[in-house]
Amino acid sequence: MDIQTVGIVGAGTMGNGIAQACAVAGVKVVMVDISQDAVDRGLATVAGSLDRLIKKDKLTVAQKDAALALIKGSTDYADLKAAPLVIEAATESQELKRKILKQLDGLLAPEGIIASNTSSISITQLAAATSRPDRFIGMHFFNPVPMMALVEIIRGYLTSDATHDAVKALAEKLGKSPITVKNAPGFVVNRILVPMINEAFFVLAEGLATAEDIDAGMKLGCNQPIGPLALADMIGLDVCLAVMEVYLEQFGDSKYRPCPLLKEMVAAGQLGRKTKRGVYAY
Ligand code: NAD
Repeated sequence: MDIQTVGIVGAGTMGNGIAQACAVAGVKVVMVDISQDAVDRGLATVAGSLDRLIKKDKLTVAQKDAALALIKGSTDYADLKAAPLVIEAATESQELKRKILKQLDGLLAPEGIIASNTSSISITQLAAATSRPDRFIGMHFFNPVPMMALVEIIRGYLTSDATHDAVKALAEKLGKSPITVKNAPGFVVNRILVPMINEAFFVLAEGLATAEDIDAGMKLGCNQPIGPLALADMIGLDVCLAVMEVYLEQFGDSKYRPCPLLKEMVAAGQLGRKTKRGVYAY
């Protein structure tokens, strides 16, 4: 199945990034958000991002114009009706996503595929909000979408092979390198990444090394582009803590217990770059 049009729900950070990746690859996009303001911001973000690629000689003005012409912004879900695939990239709330998915389920053709870009909600549970769990799948893009090569393709319990193959082919058409993952909390990348960050807080709390040396160790010894503590400041310490709490609860395994130092820093409001103070001061 060659997907030539993609519907996107949500024009925020991820939605507009996915729209850009599709349009640059020649795939038509219908991007829907709740207000015209949100749609316009999403479209302006894509235009700005394409302008930066032109400055770096990675894109021509003609290619930019061609890409923008492929993206239709809308506040009307009915515009998604004809899309063979809709990617849901709305705010991370299970209740909201279930509502959106039910709406899409009633709107799309019976053979239409629905994908969710959720970072943390069970794909099998979201699929159960629709009447088409075989045509439901996770498509977890990474931020910033136009730059990041990975897409985790998450199979829910009932996802069909045909759905998986169609979505994988689309990811490859966008120039991405997809990996296929079974549904489980954190999927693959965040399941490994966030406990590693949590462990870095244990190492810091035990006084084994300074924050700078812990980060230097992981950069120079493991070729990581950024140390785990600096990365925690970028992600947000509250987000890292919330993810560990989900793993602890859902796996019921004490190996996922959040580091007490991480909890203390979050309780103190030192959340990272967004509060100008986390492990490091900004
Ligand atoms: P965001 O807040 O930037 O954008 C969310 C958009 O959804 C907003 O524009 C909002 O107006 C819109 N929205 C809310 N309700 C809607 C509705 N009923 N219909 C249509 N649009 C609606 O959020 P984001 O960072 O783009 O995250 C979107 C999804 O992607 C979340 O599920 C998140 O977990 C996931 N995700 C985020 C990242 C990241 O680094 N930001 C990475 C991977 C996955």
